[in-house]
This record gives sequence, structure tokens and C-alpha cells, in this order.
Amino acid sequence: MHLDIPTAMNLAATLALLVGLGVAYAARGYPAEVAGPVRVWVYGLLLQPVPYVLFALRGDIHDLFSIVFANGLLVAAFALQMHALRLFNARPARVPLFAGFVATTLVGEALLTWFWPSLPLRIVLVSLVIILLVGFGLSALRRRHGVRTRAEQLLGGIFVVGAGLLAARVVVQPAAVGFDGAPAATLQGIVFTYAALMPVVATSAFMLMVGDRLARDVNRLATRDPLTGVYNRHTLAELANRAYVDAIRLGRPLSIVSFDIDHFKRINDEFGHEAGDAALCRFAGILSENLRGSDILARMGGEEFIALLPDTDEAAARTLAETLRQRIADSGFEVSGWPVPLRASIGVGTLDASAPGVGDLLRATDVALHTAKRAGRNRVVAASQLDAHACEMPAALAAMS
Ligand code: GH3
Ligand code: MG
Ligand code: MG
Repeated sequence: MHLDIPTAMNLAATLALLVGLGVAYAARGYPAEVAGPVRVWVYGLLLQPVPYVLFALRGDIHDLFSIVFANGLLVAAFALQMHALRLFNARPARVPLFAGFVATTLVGEALLTWFWPSLPLRIVLVSLVIILLVGFGLSALRRRHGVRTRAEQLLGGIFVVGAGLLAARVVVQPAAVGFDGAPAATLQGIVFTYAALMPVVATSAFMLMVGDRLARDVNRLATRDPLTGVYNRHTLAELANRAYVDAIRLGRPLSIVSFDIDHFKRINDEFGHEAGDAALCRFAGILSENLRGSDILARMGGEEFIALLPDTDEAAARTLAETLRQRIADSGFEVSGWPVPLRASIGVGTLDASAPGVGDLLRATDVALHTAKRAGRNRVVAASQLDAHACEMPAALAAMS
């Protein structure tokens, strides 16, 4: 494959400039979470044309600009894009290291221009530095938790291909000196075609990643409680119906545990709303930590939470509820060093003949919870402990209050 190198560089510079300006224009007003990384990516794109123009002016301007600065700026443009990926996936920034890569390129290219002039070694140097940078980009795309998105896989693939081409160029050197030897021409042609397409292809993949992130955030806002991060009431209703259908179909038990923090208003009144919010987060955290992955936790509003426990019979649900009650009471919650009691009243209900539907089950659990409140708080009551006229407090519970 033969490609006129100056044409490819011209194309790369023009595309990087146009795509950079386009993204800068279109992404204005993006939420802060993605706006920062997108801006840095755009800086990388807008910087790219400069080295290509400098390369193109080789011979007409001083080597300091057409070789040393041009390669340094090319590395800086890549570094900005890798930095954008690290910001995007909340990986530690490597600014001093990336600056070091740019400095190494500048110094190395200067030495290989004036002290040990060698075009092959200059190409090897800049290729190796870019391969290292790509490694940092790839590590930003690696997921420790959760699944890598398809857009991330795509961008990772694009980088691997680019790094592979550069590595091939390093290996083929120094035999392939210059732009006119046969293997060099072929490889250079492929590398520069890739470089010309890179701004469009990589930016498309990056913007797909941004789209995924925004979609995830919207989905999160629609399904989660913003304060505690657990599901909201609306989502619980949907998930409860689904869990109910599964339980009936598979003939498996299904239990619900309802929680209401005791005297929560006092926390707000005595320590302020922020302390109340912290108590809610801590409360939700204790519940989440002690539930299984298949359990569903939701905030129903105020200081009321519900845990939906698939595949859990009444005995297991009551044991879990009691454990949770104890963990909450023993949490040692503090506000500015002051111990603040955190307790909850808990109702437990299980799908059975007396509560054959999800609505019945939620109502029965709610009644059990309010019975626990009236019985003195900081306790667990199961719907099965209540008599048929569920709103009446059973004698045993009345005795406790
Ligand atoms: P009980 O033991 O009977 O449950 O009493 P309580 O004080 O826990 O219940 P009450 O319903 O009287 O008060 C609930 C309080 O929760 C009132 C409301 O201001 C507060 N609240 C509701 N949502 C939030 C929130 O998101 N943050 C904070 N800090 N407070 C909230
Ligand atoms: Mg309440
Ligand atoms: Mg309460």
C-alpha cells in the first residue's frame, strides 16, 4: 500500500482540527463529570495539527521546529488524550510522568538530530514513547469493577492496533530508513493512514463512551435515590412485581423487610439536616453491606427503607431482620464526635396465603412495622405474629410496650 505521506499528514491535521472544533462546539453544556475529560481530549485533537504542519515544513524551517518540537508536540497531543481517558475513568492523573515523556522526546530528538543524527532512531524513540502512553490509556480503560463497555472495548482495540503498528515500525527499523525503501514505504503508508483516520475513529469511540456514561447517569437518576444510592420507590414497585412473578413461577419464597428509623426527626432537630442525611447514608450502607447481591434495597421516602428478599422464607427473613436491627443499634454512629443513637423498627412479611400478592405483602409488612413502633421501637415484628385484624396489636406485643 502506498500513500503519499504529506497527503496523509495533511488529512490527519485537517481531520483532527475539524473533529476537535466539532466536539468542542457540540459538547458545550455537557455535565461536569464528562465535560472535563472531553475538554482535555479536544485539547489533544486541536494540538495534533501543529506537529503535522511542522513536519510538512521540514527543510523550510529550522530542524528545531520541524523535528524536535514537532515530535514533542505529537507526544504531548497523545499524552493529553490519554490523560482525558484517565480523568474519564477516575484513574490517578500521571501529569508529571506524561510531561516527562514529552521532555524525553524533546531531549532525545535534539540529541538524535545534532549529536548522533539518525532518522531511524528518532522514529524508534517517538514510537516507543507513544506506545508507552497508549499503555497508560489502555490501563485507564481496564475495569477493576463492573463491565467494560463496548465503546471502551472499541477504543482499546483501536489503541492496540495503533501500538502494534508502531511496534512493527520499531522492529522494521533501522532497515526501513526513510520514506522510499519498499518495506518502509508500505509500513509508513499504513502508519500514516492510521494516523490520518485516528482523530475520527478514536474520537467516535471516545464520544460513544461519553454517551454511555451520560445514559448510565440518566438511568441512575431515574432509578436510584440520589442521597443514598439505593433504588427509589418507583423502581422498587417494578422490581417487586418482577420478583413476585419469579417467586410464583419457580415456587420459591419471597420476603419483604420494612425499616423505619426511630426518632429520626430528633437527629435532624438536634444535629441538623446534614447529620440526618449522614445518618440515612450510614443506615443504607449498613443494610447494603448485610444483604445478598440478589436482594433489592430501596428508599421509600424519608427515613423508610424496604429490602426485597427473593428466595427467602419467613424464618430466614426474621433472622436477617434481627441481625440488621442489632447491627444498626451497634453502629456507633457519631456526628462531630458525638454519639447519636441510630435505631430502627422493622416489619417482616412473607408471601403466603394471607398475603398472596405483592400489594398485600407490602401492606402486611407495613402493619407489622407500625406494630413494632407502637410496641416500643427498636424491634422486629413479623406479619405472621399479627392476628387477622392486623391493625390490632397482638397481646404479646402490647405487653412489651
Ligand atoms: P418515629 O420513631 O415514629 O419513626 O419518629 P421519626 O422522628 O423517625 O418520624 P417522623 O415521621 O416524625 O420524622 C421523619 C423525619 O424525617 C421528618 C423529615 O423532616 C425527615 N426527613 C425526611 N427526608 C429526609 C431527608 O432526606 N434528609 C433528612 N435529613 N431528613 C429527612
Ligand atoms: Mg417514618
Ligand atoms: Mg421514623
